Amino acid sequence: RTSIIDLLTPWAEKDPESVAAATPPGPDRVTLSKVRLLGEIGAARDRYLTADVRPGDRIVLIAPSCPEFLIEFFGAHAAGLVVVAVNPLSTVRELDYILTDSEARVLVAHPASAEAGKAAAAQHDVEFRTLAIVGNEGPRAEVGAESDVTVDRADFAWDDIAALLYTSGTTGKPKGTMLTLGNFISATDIVREMIEANPSDRSATGLPLFHVFGLAAVTLPAMSAGAPVTLFPRWDPQAFIASLAEDETTIVSGVPTMWMSVLAKAPEGEAPDLRIISSGGASIAAEVVRRVEDRFTAPLAEGYGLTETSGLGTFNPLHGTRKPTSVGPAVPGFEVKTVDPASGEELPADEVGEVLLRGPAVMAGYWKKPEATAEVLDAEGWFRTGDLGRVDEDGYLFIVDRIKDLIIHGGYNVYPREIEEVIYEIPEVDQVSVVGTPDEKYGQQVTAVIARTPGSDLGADEVERFCRENLAAYKIPRIIEFLDELPKGPSGKILKREIVRMFTPSTE
Ligand code: ATP
Repeated sequence: RTSIIDLLTPWAEKDPESVAAATPPGPDRVTLSKVRLLGEIGAARDRYLTADVRPGDRIVLIAPSCPEFLIEFFGAHAAGLVVVAVNPLSTVRELDYILTDSEARVLVAHPASAEAGKAAAAQHDVEFRTLAIVGNEGPRAEVGAESDVTVDRADFAWDDIAALLYTSGTTGKPKGTMLTLGNFISATDIVREMIEANPSDRSATGLPLFHVFGLAAVTLPAMSAGAPVTLFPRWDPQAFIASLAEDETTIVSGVPTMWMSVLAKAPEGEAPDLRIISSGGASIAAEVVRRVEDRFTAPLAEGYGLTETSGLGTFNPLHGTRKPTSVGPAVPGFEVKTVDPASGEELPADEVGEVLLRGPAVMAGYWKKPEATAEVLDAEGWFRTGDLGRVDEDGYLFIVDRIKDLIIHGGYNVYPREIEEVIYEIPEVDQVSVVGTPDEKYGQQVTAVIARTPGSDLGADEVERFCRENLAAYKIPRIIEFLDELPKGPSGKILKREIVRMFTPSTE
């Protein structure tokens, strides 16, 4: 296969008029058939070829999750371009950095999120375009079974870069993760086979497509199996739940905060008839897994991955043993091990160390950052994740925490996740995040920030008492604060660094 489009064409030939992608149900719903989608991709490619670009040039794509995102992503790819997919909430300053770093030639934005992009492009020698909105009508809406499904497209070599996805990682400025054609195809094939996706499935997600999880680990696998995808541009738990029965959805995928918001906002009602609930991107407390599985009556399969590994790494198998609190064994084609973070020596089973992943979906490196690449990727292809974990005797990975989130309180190591697991057992806790805030005496203070269930008057005393009963003294949060909502990042993950900032005592 020489293009990501090769993942779509077999189904467009076999079942051209079946649904490829749709917006959420409602009066304005837009539904694209497989053959229509390819037609739109071909038209997008032709538009890119009118720009002053050459194969390998970068284009920045700013769009929420919607069919147009897919059209532009594949269309630019068909024109031989490298897509830099960016969060629509990015500021001019953030876009300015990305445009400078990626040396992009064109910036394409959804009209709803065009303002910052337009301003940033104007500061650079970058052509600004708004992307074409498709509806149920239009020049290519009538194409049918007899239509040609071939798209003229540039060929990519397996190791050619297909996309740059920026990640802030542990330190410093955002880095462009170079994902190749081989990374996308491998990730898609692995996930599709693992979850046994097939044309009778239907996938729904509120994950952003500019993030690797939503794109490479969720949407492309479903599309390559011929399954329709429903894309939610904004996360709306009630609308999401309501759509599942109407669409006969079988696969839902999201980050833990999404499942928690479903429990909070749509706690009751008919349990949709799902096949898989896939969760990843951040740790999910055992208690939350239990609540979600009760609500949905389907298994929650947790996986683990990073932008740098195309969202892959480990996944709890559909058949066979799913171990609670484990993110599963390495997916087919991948290997996982842990090493001593200081010496790099491989550790035996059950010893906690830094998690390393190796596999065909691991990035080619960071764009124009050979030193940063060398810090995380060794000559044998092992990628250092920056996460602490242990691998048990059966090869199941347990993530302990991110190395950078470890709290050192008076010389003791405190793992926030362990405390979060305990606090989640309090029924009135909707969401909790535990962070270390600076403290003169102890270096860092264990700080718990909680969003309560609606109407709850849960107090800090009760939380502290519960922690005392269940945790050693040095792990008990000394600062317990309540917020209506915890700050979240672009993919819906809780933003720990923002919480640290909010609760760091001012030094003025
Ligand atoms: P940024 O783009 O700001 O750097 P990020 O650090 O979250 O965001 P991603 O590549 O989106 O970067 O996420 C990868 C990280 O997410 C992993 O290193 C790990 O810490 C966390 N993660 C992913 N899946 C899981 C999981 N199932 N359990 C625990 N942590 C997870």
